[in-house]
Amino acid sequence: MKIVIIGAGVAGLGIGWRLLQQGASVTILERAQAGSGASWAAAGMLAVTAELEDAAEPERALALRASALWPGFAAELEEASGRAVFLNRDGALLLAGGEAHLSVMRARAEGELRLVDAAGAKALVPLLGDTLGGLWSPREAHVDNRALGEALTIAFLKAGGLLYPNEAAVKIEGRSVLTPYGRYDGDAVLVAAGAWSGLLENIPIVPVKGEVIALAPPVGAALPGPVVWGEHVYCVPRHGRLLVGATMEEAGFDTSVTPSGHDQLRASAEKLMPSLKGWALADHWAGLRPKSPDGLPLLGETATPGLFVAGGQYRNGILFTPAIAAEMADVILGKAPVIPAFDPRRFLGDLHE
Ligand SMILES: Cc1cc2nc3c(=O)[nH]c(=O)nc-3n(C[C@H](O)[C@H](O)[C@H](O)COP(=O)(O)OP(=O)(O)OC[C@H]3O[C@@H](n4cnc5c(N)ncnc54)[C@H](O)[C@@H]3O)c2cc1C
Repeated sequence: MKIVIIGAGVAGLGIGWRLLQQGASVTILERAQAGSGASWAAAGMLAVTAELEDAAEPERALALRASALWPGFAAELEEASGRAVFLNRDGALLLAGGEAHLSVMRARAEGELRLVDAAGAKALVPLLGDTLGGLWSPREAHVDNRALGEALTIAFLKAGGLLYPNEAAVKIEGRSVLTPYGRYDGDAVLVAAGAWSGLLENIPIVPVKGEVIALAPPVGAALPGPVVWGEHVYCVPRHGRLLVGATMEEAGFDTSVTPSGHDQLRASAEKLMPSLKGWALADHWAGLRPKSPDGLPLLGETATPGLFVAGGQYRNGILFTPAIAAEMADVILGKAPVIPAFDPRRFLGDLHE
């Protein structure tokens, strides 16, 4: 079976890799460079606790499947690519924003998800200022999402995939994709173009901009061990710097960084850890999260036979990577049914009718 994939983010690369392993022939067309979209801009958290407090059940289940797959997926990918993805499983501390929030957290605390008081929180993260405490989640993890993009690219190529960077899909005609340079015919076409998916087809995905800053500690200062979450902010230790993210804004396809984005992130982080005031700004970037109207992913065939979409992962596309790779490969090969809550046809019923 021949599959043409549009977009070399973690979704397109991951699904492509799994398809190759099952004997399919796969070509990926990438408008820019592999792994350079949201997959590059993300903070890389596998935030099964922090991100899924209010999630719908099918999304929570997808996240838990993905989370369970991550250790094996990372090991297999590192073996196949020869590249580390830096899976870190040091947990996350979710700080309460007030007494009401603490009560919600108290109700969530069960099993390994443990409520900690101020002293317990400071023992976990000595940089914290005044705090009410919060939830300690040892199952939270993170990966270096940029390394993940590179590893997936190498694994995809080593498995025999064809990847054409700097070649944008401009039109889909049946099961063929047209670029400025040629026409690619397949038995199936997969749109995995992230926040840009809706520009190609009538796919209801919009970009939600997020800015992130990276802070460098002064000499002698230690980074927090776990990920730290406050209200509207998270702090992720990564390769000697602290990533602080992320703003949320529907601003079209703009990926510029702004002084107000920086100030907002820095102020929120300093409120949690006052000594960050002395930390230098090391980097500042923005990316576009792919969001569907109901906030759930679109994973499956569209109303056009042979045209599939894998998108709308919104804030959790890195977390979902191993599950989406395996499950979408099976859906495209006709080995597994579409999960109804993620069926793209819930929005695309009248497409091409
Ligand atoms: C600031 C920020 C922080 C985030 N933090 C996290 C996090 O901590 N944890 C988490 O799980 N998720 C996080 N996310 C979300 C996550 O990054 C995304 O859900 C995920 O990367 C989406 O992957 P993708 O492969 O679908 O899209 P992308 O990575 O955006 O890839 C799509 C690719 O398609 C290409 N493309 C677009 N149009 C065309 C075309 N016409 N032809 C060819 N190629 C095309 C693009 O160039 C791009 O490379 C974050 C996102 C942002 C922006």
